[in-house]
Amino acid sequence: MQTIALNTKSRPSTVLCGAGAAKQLDTILDGKDVFVVTDENVYGLYKDFIAENFGGAPVCVLPAGERHKNRHSLFTILDKMLQARLRRNSTLVAFGGGVVGDMGGLAASLYMRGIHAVQVPTTLLAQVDSSVGGKTAIDHRGVKNVIGTFYQPEYVVCDPLFLRTLPQRELKCGLGEIIKTGALDAKILDKLERNAERFFDFSFLEEITADCVRFKAGVVEKDECERSGLRKCLNMGHTTGHALELFYKRRSHGEYVLIGMLLESYIAEKFDICAHDYAEELRALIGKVLKRVPRFENIAEAAGLALYDKKNQGENEVSLILPAKRGEFAELRLTDEDYIGSVEEIAGGLA
Ligand code: NAD
Ligand code: MG
Repeated sequence: MQTIALNTKSRPSTVLCGAGAAKQLDTILDGKDVFVVTDENVYGLYKDFIAENFGGAPVCVLPAGERHKNRHSLFTILDKMLQARLRRNSTLVAFGGGVVGDMGGLAASLYMRGIHAVQVPTTLLAQVDSSVGGKTAIDHRGVKNVIGTFYQPEYVVCDPLFLRTLPQRELKCGLGEIIKTGALDAKILDKLERNAERFFDFSFLEEITADCVRFKAGVVEKDECERSGLRKCLNMGHTTGHALELFYKRRSHGEYVLIGMLLESYIAEKFDICAHDYAEELRALIGKVLKRVPRFENIAEAAGLALYDKKNQGENEVSLILPAKRGEFAELRLTDEDYIGSVEEIAGGLA
């Protein structure tokens, strides 16, 4: 198990990563007044684990899935927190995937203006990405993550134990964010290329999770609230990914990130941000996880939703974080017309 420190101005946070991390929960939560948030799938699988490790704490079980990442679920959590008479020094444990983590984190940051939060991510995506860095959110009126806060958990406990029950498809989603991290960090990219046949091997996933967490912690320490622009890099593939996710809703976040990265790799080439060979290298890695690109109906309309992206600065402008060279990224701002036209042309060519 590795211990990774994430020290931001707002609060020091510690990430425990690897086999045995979950055993530390005992010590972390010792003497604390605990409240658990989870979803129905995770609860079904880990009821005994929850009972044994969270000392009979009240458990708020939410319906699972992105479509429940909304104000109703948020207020269900807050109501239950109030019923449980949580105080300022209570600890909310978000036990689940990124949806539970984002909503649990938001509830922890709002209740009494902020109580302690611990993230116990149970999906690969949540372990490598969403549980670390303190972004919390719900979706609202069709816009993803539009209501949220920056709120660092005191601990994040990433144990590969939980990945054993994860469907293959969810592993792929996590691999989407792992490949994204590889496109930002040359060492991680080298490791991915060396281990491209081991993507679904748990010992490899345990190792690469710690690498991705360490990389993300470094970025978040430098730019916690996405002010300097550095943290934006973590959004590679997400401009297009989020737009398609919002419009089609059929697949999950990680899959749309993979599709977004694929389409944006061609945009990077088209606008001379990235050389063909490097774009091909990234596409080869993406292809290890995403076997087939789906055919998208009305892709121009879907791509138009990128205008809601939080990175955009001008009114008719779409901002993209693109791969430039190994370990380097660049931000490209396109007019909505250029962006939508490019997505349409590229997706048409792939279908
Ligand atoms: P999710 O939370 O919906 O989990 C995916 C599915 O796996 C769900 O059905 C869940 O019930 C199930 N599940 C969870 N753990 C399981 C386990 N151990 N075994 C079997 N099934 C399990 O989705 P996700 O992919 O974990 O997270 C996606 C969310 O994370 C999105 O809402 C996205 O916006 C958010 N996100 C946030 C950040 C951030 O920085 N805060 C970063 C990336 C993504
Ligand atoms: Mg993401």
